[in-house]
Parts: sequence; structure tokens; C-alpha cells
Amino acid sequence: MLDRVCIICGERHSIYLLTYEGASLHQCLDCELIFRHPPQLSEQLGANSQSVIAIEMAHGEKEVTARHKKMLVNAEVFKGKAAVLGLSDQHPLIENLSQSGLEIEIVTEDANSWLEKSNTASYDSIVLLNIIEKCAEPQRFLERVRSVLKENGKLAVVFHSLESKQRFSTFETFWSLGNLYYFSHTTMQLLLEKSGFEKIWNATNELFVAHKNRVSTEQILSVIMPVYNEKDTFEMALNAVLQKKIKGIGSTEVIAVDNRSTDGTRELVKNYINSPNVKILFADEKQGKGYAVREGLKQVTGDIVMIQDADLEYDIDDLDALLEPLVRYKKAFVLGSRHKGKWKMRSFINDSFSASFLNAGQVFFTTLLNILYNQQMTDPLTMYKVFRKECLYGLKFECDGFDFDQELVAKFIRKGYTPHEIRVNYRSRSFSEGKKISMLKDPFICLINDLKYRFVSPFETDWKDSPPK
Ligand SMILES: [Zn+2]
Repeated sequence: MLDRVCIICGERHSIYLLTYEGASLHQCLDCELIFRHPPQLSEQLGANSQSVIAIEMAHGEKEVTARHKKMLVNAEVFKGKAAVLGLSDQHPLIENLSQSGLEIEIVTEDANSWLEKSNTASYDSIVLLNIIEKCAEPQRFLERVRSVLKENGKLAVVFHSLESKQRFSTFETFWSLGNLYYFSHTTMQLLLEKSGFEKIWNATNELFVAHKNRVSTEQILSVIMPVYNEKDTFEMALNAVLQKKIKGIGSTEVIAVDNRSTDGTRELVKNYINSPNVKILFADEKQGKGYAVREGLKQVTGDIVMIQDADLEYDIDDLDALLEPLVRYKKAFVLGSRHKGKWKMRSFINDSFSASFLNAGQVFFTTLLNILYNQQMTDPLTMYKVFRKECLYGLKFECDGFDFDQELVAKFIRKGYTPHEIRVNYRSRSFSEGKKISMLKDPFICLINDLKYRFVSPFETDWKDSPPK
């Protein structure tokens, strides 16, 4: 094992992947970033942006370039003062842009010395062409780029992503690009977030557009708590979440959404209207749990989001383990699995028929989701879905009921996130204790939706042509 700290998650666990032309590539076991070791560009590479361009041109970069230009124009990257930083003036995109008549500053000198000269926040946007994967310290580089951007300025990153078609069609040339880092969509998102960017739009496989973010020194956790007739447990659950201290989390906000409770819970919820770190929402008419969660999601201001029911079926002490991979930028999407390692069957006293019905339903939907979405999840129906807020960007949600659970998982997977499962504790409630799933209607709706979301775009309608609002 290498004794080398990962530039994204800070861990030292990596495995050796392959050696190509004398360079050995390793992969971080936590965030899955692929990096070259030792961290040096090959001698030829410094002198030879030409050969890199040649490789790219030989593999369809020209059509890709036309698409990138269209996306950059759609994202309004060239409005105002814009600069393009690339490896060489022969980069096909630079050539394409120079001929376009757009007013753009094309920087062909070394990016670092250019940044040194332009050290005020005066740019509306900056485009980076295949630079980031060749920087020894990508985060520091991005932070410097960020500092020359105006408030809310835009950054566009063109990079050789692991999801690009190039990688699959030309295995050898892809690795011979000689990059120091090979980013996937997820590791690029994590790096951008860590460097102070948000609203990350995955425009094409090889192009991301992001906005300069507010500066924050600590991460905020946002907890969505849908509430419906939970007078015995609501206050306990709310206080437990608020008081829970989690390493790396500076503060916690709870967004409690009362879904027209009729048992007095609504009055309890009202008591918290002016409490610090608590936002209270009241649903207009009883729409279902999914609706309540969706309303809550609109109010989120934190960096990490989780959904927490106002009952005590789950163990709040599991939060440390669930949040750690998100706080440390190891993962973007985590599921708390009730079945990982060991299958814990439901057992309701005096209610064994509904227990086995629900168990069979769980097995059925877990298998269905795994097959449809090509995953190996053990518990996609868990309440504990924890993710970086950025994952929500651009997605459109519509489910009002319990089917929202599956919609969220399905759409995150369609956007490109692989759920990371962590085992959690669980004590099931029976129907007489207040379990609320409708036994006949919900499974049918879920089945239809799982099939539908496999094929229908998960994004806001215009996502593929221009960034979401
Ligand atoms: Zn890592």
C-alpha cells in the first residue's frame, strides 16, 4: 500500500490498478479517485501538449468539441468577461472558439503564471481545458481560479472523465494521456464542491459547469423530518437530531414538515416555530410522505441532506457512520442498510401475515431495483438516505407517497451516483404501533414508477441543453 494521502478524501488506502508506459496508476479505496504514482508528469508530456492533442483529435474530439461549445454557449459562459485556459493553442476547442467571433480571452501561457497576474475577482467565467487532471494539486489550483471569479461566476471544466466514450473505445490511448488524475463524474463533483463550487451541471460526459459558492468553513447538515400523527415520538426524535454532535458537521438544521396531523402532533410542532435551527412547514392538504419530503427539500440550505422520520425505528447513533463518508468527501450518496451482512426479518407480534407480506415486498423491490438499475443494493427502501445536497441539482421529483423513496434512489442512480451502503440498526413498528404504508395501493404504484424512471429522463426538461435554473 502506498503511503500517499488522497487529494479528495484525505485517506491513505489505495490499490494498484495498472502500469502504462512506465506510469503506475492507483485507486483510492474510499473516494475511488484514480491517480498516478509517483505524482509526476512524464518528461515528454510537459513538452508535448501536441501529442496529447494528436491523440484526442484521432479519437473523435472534433465532434465532441462542437458539442462542448454548444453547451458552453447555452450555459451563458461567454457572457461578460471570460477566459479560456488550455494546454495549448492547438486544442480543438480553442481553435473552434477563436473562429466563433465570441469575445473571449484565450490564455495560452502557463495557467499558474496567468493566475498570479490576474489576482482580482474580475472574471464572469473561466473555462479549463484538460488542465485539472494534470495539476499536482487540483484543489489548490481550483481555489485560485475561484479567487479570480466574480461573485456567482461560472467555471467550466473539460476533462478526460472515466465515463467518456474515449475511455471505452480506446483503452490504451486513454491511459496514455499521461494524466496525474483520472476523475469520474462523482470524484469531479466532490473536488469541485471541496474547492468552493456549487450548482454543478454535468453538461456532457467530459464537461462540467459550476458556480462559485459562498465561502464556508464548516459543513451544515440539513435534516428533513416528515411528521404525521407522531405525538409520542416527535419531540424526542427532533431533540435527538438537534443535540447529536457529528464530527465534521458545524451545525444541524431540521426542516420539520407536518402533514396535517390530527392527533395533536401539529400543536407540538407549532411550539418549535421560533426555535433556532428549526424550520417548520405545514402541508396544505394531506398529500403523503413524499410530498412532505419534497416540500422540505426546497428549503434545504446545508451541504449534506438526510431524511429522518419522526419515529424511533432507526438508531440516531448510526448517524456518525452514515455521515462520515459524506463529510470527508468520500461518497456523494449513502444508504443506511438494515440488511447488510445479515438479513433481519420483520417480526410483528400478532401480525405475522403483514410482516411476511412486507418482507416479501422488500425482497421483491430490492431485486427489481437492482436488476433495472444494475446495482447490488441490499436495502434501497431504507429511510436513511443521506447525500450531498449537490446531488439534487437538476433533478425533478414528483412522487407524493411512499413511492418517493424509490424515486429518489432511482433518479440518483440515473444521474450517475452509486449508492454506498452502511449497516444500521432498526426496530420495526407494526401497523398497530403506527406504521403507515398502504398495503395494497403503494406496491403497485412503486412497480410502475420503478419501470418508468428507468427510461424517462430524471432531469428538469431542459437539462440536457442548458443548465437548470
Ligand atoms: Zn480518496
